[in-house]
Amino acid sequence: MMPRPPRCDACYEQKPASDLKHCVGCETTWYCSKACQKKHWRDHIFDCDPKRPIATAYYLSRGCRTTLIPVHMQTRKDFGFEKAENLVGDDAQKMLLGLWTYVLRYLDVSEKELQKWLAEGTMVKRIKAAFEHVPHQGQGPYFAWFLEHQHILDGSPLDVTEPHEATMRAAMAATRKAWVMAGGSPDDSLETIAAKTQALTCRDQACLKFYQRSTLNVYPSPQEEQWVTFGYVAAMKQENEVPISQMYGELIFEHCTFNEFSTAYGTSSILKLAEEHRVSMAGMDDTTHALFRDVMAESPRRFKTVWYLKQYIDQFLCAEPGTPPILPHRAMHADYGFINCRSASDLVMLDELYRA
Ligand SMILES: [Zn+2]
Ligand SMILES: [Zn+2]
Repeated sequence: MMPRPPRCDACYEQKPASDLKHCVGCETTWYCSKACQKKHWRDHIFDCDPKRPIATAYYLSRGCRTTLIPVHMQTRKDFGFEKAENLVGDDAQKMLLGLWTYVLRYLDVSEKELQKWLAEGTMVKRIKAAFEHVPHQGQGPYFAWFLEHQHILDGSPLDVTEPHEATMRAAMAATRKAWVMAGGSPDDSLETIAAKTQALTCRDQACLKFYQRSTLNVYPSPQEEQWVTFGYVAAMKQENEVPISQMYGELIFEHCTFNEFSTAYGTSSILKLAEEHRVSMAGMDDTTHALFRDVMAESPRRFKTVWYLKQYIDQFLCAEPGTPPILPHRAMHADYGFINCRSASDLVMLDELYRA
């Protein structure tokens, strides 16, 4: 076996080798204490023994830690993501991920406990009981959303046809609304809108797509280019995306014209536009605000490689074991890592990445 430095794989403390005990599953991971092993298990379970099936609560928990909607199919079925996707699109899945994050992280429910709720078929009842002692103002938006959408987790069968039609109708209505906001005629048919959209500049097309999806309350996910170009990459946690969406929503629906927005986007001055219209960014914490400012200062013309690195990592973390590798953005072939950190915000971000 390779010699290794005597250090705990959970807390990274240097310890004499005699003080460390290895994991009996794989014999390659070492811990200084039971507590460290227990804490590390939710990560280590994915590396330990590849022959043993992993309970879906661990996939869910990993999704919550990396703020990525799970892609593992059984996990999606077990914890409501499949139903959520059919009901209201991307945004419902984000709310659901927020709910589970709250349950696991803030209410401190263990993966084992969650798996038990699943096996018993008592998730709705248990979630309500877990929130019972949280004061109303501390419950966040997720519990209120859950109360409106309990059927997602009540074990009832998924009805694909009806909600899908509703989703299609909503998407078409949003396309029209965005088109009219961009100065198009309300009398244009969807075919005409599609044809005329093709003739627009890339910049206008990107903004139109962003308007259409904002109308549906759907914002970009890490798999999409717009996740970087509209600055969502600056959010270190899923909940940090909320104030970014709020800022855009207020700007788009209450303040500026489409042309103003598109021009500002094309000239990397979205933040200036928001400031001119006095759109509040108070919901953003300082780190998110600084990083958002950093991305948007050059988007969409160019990006620091570090933003692609983060996108790459976020996609990578949510991929299922055994799926083909995701290719990094071409900019990353040339350079990635600390050597490229040119500003403090780069360092903050990499720091956050490595802590995650
Ligand atoms: Zn330790
Ligand atoms: Zn192990």
